[in-house]
Amino acid sequence: MTAPSLTPTTRDERLDLLEADRFDLIIVGGGITGAGVARDAAARGLTVALLEADDFAAGTSSRSSKLIHGGLRYLASGEIDLVRKTARERTAVHAMAPHLAEPCWMVVPARNWASVTKFRAGIGTYEKLGGVEDADRHEVWKGDEVTAHEPHLRTDPYDYAVAYREYLTDDARLVLATLRAATLSGAVAANRLPVVDAIREGDRIDGVQARCAITGREVAVRSDVVVNAAGPWVEGIARMEQDPPASRLHLSKGVHIVIPRERFPANHLVIANTEDKRSIFVIPRGDIVYIGTTDTTYSGDRPLWPEITREDVDYLLAPMDRYFDIEPLTADDVIAAWAGVRPLIAQEGKEAKEMSRKDEVTTGPGGMISIAGGKLTGFRKLAEDVMDVVAKQLGRRLPEGPGTAPVPGGQPVAATDDRQATRLRRLYGSESDAVLALGAEPLVPGAPVVVGEVDWAIDMEAALTLVDVVYRRTRVAWYVPQHRDELAVAMGQRMADRLGWTDHEHAQQLAEVRTLFADELAFKEAS
Ligand SMILES: Cc1cc2nc3c(=O)[nH]c(=O)nc-3n(C[C@H](O)[C@H](O)[C@H](O)COP(=O)(O)OP(=O)(O)OC[C@H]3O[C@@H](n4cnc5c(N)ncnc54)[C@H](O)[C@@H]3O)c2cc1C
Repeated sequence: MTAPSLTPTTRDERLDLLEADRFDLIIVGGGITGAGVARDAAARGLTVALLEADDFAAGTSSRSSKLIHGGLRYLASGEIDLVRKTARERTAVHAMAPHLAEPCWMVVPARNWASVTKFRAGIGTYEKLGGVEDADRHEVWKGDEVTAHEPHLRTDPYDYAVAYREYLTDDARLVLATLRAATLSGAVAANRLPVVDAIREGDRIDGVQARCAITGREVAVRSDVVVNAAGPWVEGIARMEQDPPASRLHLSKGVHIVIPRERFPANHLVIANTEDKRSIFVIPRGDIVYIGTTDTTYSGDRPLWPEITREDVDYLLAPMDRYFDIEPLTADDVIAAWAGVRPLIAQEGKEAKEMSRKDEVTTGPGGMISIAGGKLTGFRKLAEDVMDVVAKQLGRRLPEGPGTAPVPGGQPVAATDDRQATRLRRLYGSESDAVLALGAEPLVPGAPVVVGEVDWAIDMEAALTLVDVVYRRTRVAWYVPQHRDELAVAMGQRMADRLGWTDHEHAQQLAEVRTLFADELAFKEAS
């Protein structure tokens, strides 16, 4: 049986519903943090409304490195608790959504046995903290073994490699699946519904005022508790309660660049070190490889679509030649790119790359619960922590949460070698057949994307615009960039037919997507 849609009613009906009922909990922000809290709260029987200003996962939660990982590097900075918590969450996320937490080898090239010994000590601790099972423990490869696993990795000077388990996800799809789990338990979620103010009743926050970004309709939503999960925008929402807000954020920009796999034939996830002694990842996925990430203070005015500069791209490409014996990569090889901002908790005197990735849950004077910082990986546990605070405010004990219950699409499915089936399984998991049943024919010849995906995005996943479908539902903008323009045209046509767009609306939707495509690669013109 297919789990219900993220939007079981029409938009107007949903907005009516938001106004008609008083909720136990309102969540501001539909990234992974808000989605995780919605899933947990709704499963405990709370009535939940989630309001997202743009699209679900439009913020940081579609721009990450897409790793469900404990962050081995944080061991070096002594953040044992953070590493323990997130390392353990790897198996929890895998249990909830095996298709969105795929075990992969993370390969650390090493020059000599002394380096291997050093890495193994760190990785051994990591595995212990994460409770890794014996079969999943790290391996050490030497010489020909390195070449057998990763043929283009330079064995001179990297004669060894240590390979350990991490998990690859799809951040935006994890948000959508988690939100659908919340809807399944009765939560009401609406995208394109920015919160514009807080509603007060005496000293307490009693709800939020929102404005529909499509029609301008004003919507007042009331609740006993408000959770502010607005990621990089969390301070702005907290200011609606008190100014200045309790927590201060430091925004850090992270860029990823995308290279065709045929140009960069990497097999596994590989860690490379940069000149300034940071680690960046090389991550193969389908027909592409992405490299990331940068970590620089962001003070621009486009936190949703931060600029990607030539400097960012050169920084990520620079170490590649040291590690890989392939024709040197240049900026011309980059066919797509994304940037996001990390909402880090500001730490006086530290650079962005040195700041902790820990999360912080604070309660304001009117009762608003704000969540700052954190990682995608820890969202399930973070939601449990937030529910402890919510329970206190509601003044009652809550039933058990959902634990690691599977999200829609999260039933196990066998892996296959087929390129299209693999892509669909990674996106839709055990719901792939339901997607195919809506239309199994290719959208455009030669691209592994089927017609049913567009209908699924509209009917089941609340996609309202072409950007939603191209960037956050089918993910073709970054995972199938070789064909993205023709796919966007075909998807736009299908959406226009389904949603009754006028010619003008249709043209506008396509223009918006094309502007974003061009913007990603604008660094090429600046050089
Ligand atoms: C480059 C980069 C790489 C990363 N890599 C990893 C990784 O590999 N693994 C990992 O675990 N973590 C990673 N992270 C961290 C992770 O992505 C973030 O911790 C996580 O996505 C934050 O989610 P969030 O829901 O808190 O914020 P967001 O996803 O930004 O969600 C906040 C939402 O609030 C909405 N909003 C804003 N204002 C309003 C309003 N007025 N009304 C309603 N809604 C509003 C926004 O539109 C947005 O959708 C990475 C981060 C970056 C930037």
